[in-house]
Amino acid sequence: MPATIDLTDPSARPAPSSKAVQANAQTLDGKPTLIGMSREEMVAAMADAGVPEKQRKMRVNQIWHWLYVRGSSDFADMHTISRELRENLAARYTIARPEIVEEQISNDGTRKWLMRFPPRGAGRPVEVETVYIPEEGRGTLCISSQVGCTLTCTFCHTGTQKLVRNLTAEEILSQLLVARDRLGDFPHKDTPQGAIVPSEGRKVTNIVMMGMGEPLYNFDHVKQALLIASDGDGLALSRRRITLSTSGVVPGIVRTGEEIGVMLAISLHAVRDELRDELVPINKKYPLKELLEACRTYPGVSNARRITFEYVMLKGVNDSLSDAKELVRLLKGIPAKINLIPFNPWPGSAYECSDWETIETFADFVNANGYASPIRTPRGRDILAACGQLKSESERMRKKDRDELENMALQAMMISGHGAD
Ligand code: SAH
Ligand code: SF4
Repeated sequence: MPATIDLTDPSARPAPSSKAVQANAQTLDGKPTLIGMSREEMVAAMADAGVPEKQRKMRVNQIWHWLYVRGSSDFADMHTISRELRENLAARYTIARPEIVEEQISNDGTRKWLMRFPPRGAGRPVEVETVYIPEEGRGTLCISSQVGCTLTCTFCHTGTQKLVRNLTAEEILSQLLVARDRLGDFPHKDTPQGAIVPSEGRKVTNIVMMGMGEPLYNFDHVKQALLIASDGDGLALSRRRITLSTSGVVPGIVRTGEEIGVMLAISLHAVRDELRDELVPINKKYPLKELLEACRTYPGVSNARRITFEYVMLKGVNDSLSDAKELVRLLKGIPAKINLIPFNPWPGSAYECSDWETIETFADFVNANGYASPIRTPRGRDILAACGQLKSESERMRKKDRDELENMALQAMMISGHGAD
C-alpha cells in the first residue's frame, strides 16, 4: 500500500516566469448558461427556446457534443445546428467562459489561472484559483468547490476565510473547460508552444477537488459538475481519475460513493480525537470512529481503488513515531494510501513544518508497515523548499518569486499522484 511523499524537484522549478495575460475578457452577460446543466435541464431549455418536443433530445445530444467534446464556447461554431436555432439559443442562453484575470506559468509547466465569476448573491464578483500540474504521463487539475470555507481547520489558510459562497456546477466545470482551452486539450485547439504537458493523449488526465472549500458542503453542485465531467459522451474523464478530498463530512462520504462514484481522499491529519478536534474541528461532529467506518464501507473501495489519507506534517504536533504507529493501526483493513504533506506556512499560522528527519522517520515507519511506494529524490531539498525554508539557492530571487515557487512546489505535492494512471 503506497505512502507517498510526492515531491517534485525544486531545482527543476526555477523562479516562475509568471506572466499575467488578459486571455479572455468575456464575462457572463446575465443570461442563463447551458454549461453545467444536466441533460434534463437542457431538454427544458430547448422547450423554452421553442424546439419541437420530438427534436429536443437530439438537439441536446448535439449541443452536449459541441460543449464537451469540441469545447465550443460560442453557439456560432455549432454548424450541425440550423442558424435560426443557434441565434435563438444565443439570444436566450450563454456558453461563454469566465474571465481569466491572470495566468501564471512556472518553468516546470505548473499553471495557475485566476478566474472571475459573477457575484451571484455574494455582493461582488468572486475569484477562484485553479492549478494544473503536469507529470510524467498525466496532467492533474486542482479544482475549487467554494469561495472560502465554513470549516476552520487550524492549519489551513482557507479556514481563516469566511465562506463567501458555493460555486455553481457551471463554475466548477468551467475551471476544467478553461484549463482545457488554455492547454489546447480540445480537438482543433493548439497547445501553446513550449507548454509542458503529457507527451501523448489528453493534457488534463486527472482532477482533484482539493482547491478552496469543502466539496461535501456543496454536494449538489459538485455532484452535477462531476457527473458531467465523467459523462462518456462528453468530457469522459474516468471516475477513477477524479478524486474528491473531504475533511470528513460522513453523510456526504456515503452519498459520494453511491451517487458520484469517484475516488476519495480524507484529510485525516490526526489519529486521536482530542487532537483532530483541534486541527480539523468537524471531527467533533463526525469523530474518527465514524469517519473510518464510512471509509471501510465506502462503495467500490478495493485494493485497486484505495482511499487516500492526507496527513499534514506539523512539527511537534502530529509527527511522532507513536502517531505513525497509531495511523497504521487505525487504517488496518482499509485499502489505503497515505499522502504525507509538508505543512505550508502562511502569515499568522501557528504551526511549523516538521523537520525532514522526522518526516523521513514517519514515512519509513508507514512504508515498513506495508504502505510502501517510491519516494522521489532529492527529497531533503524538496522538503526545505516546501516548508518555506528554501534559502541558499534562491537567496537572489525576489521574495515574491520565492514565495510563489514554494507555493507551487507544495501544491504540486498535494495535488499530484491522485487517482488512476
Ligand atoms: N476541504 C477539503 C479539500 C480542500 S483542502 C479538505 O479539507 O480535504 C486540500 C488539502 O490541503 C487538505 O488535505 C488540507 O487539509 C490540505 N491543507 C490545507 N492547508 C494546508 C497547509 N497550510 N499545508 C499543507 N496542507 C494543507
Ligand atoms: Fe481548509 Fe479543507 Fe478545512 Fe476547509 S475543510 S478549512 S478547505 S482544510
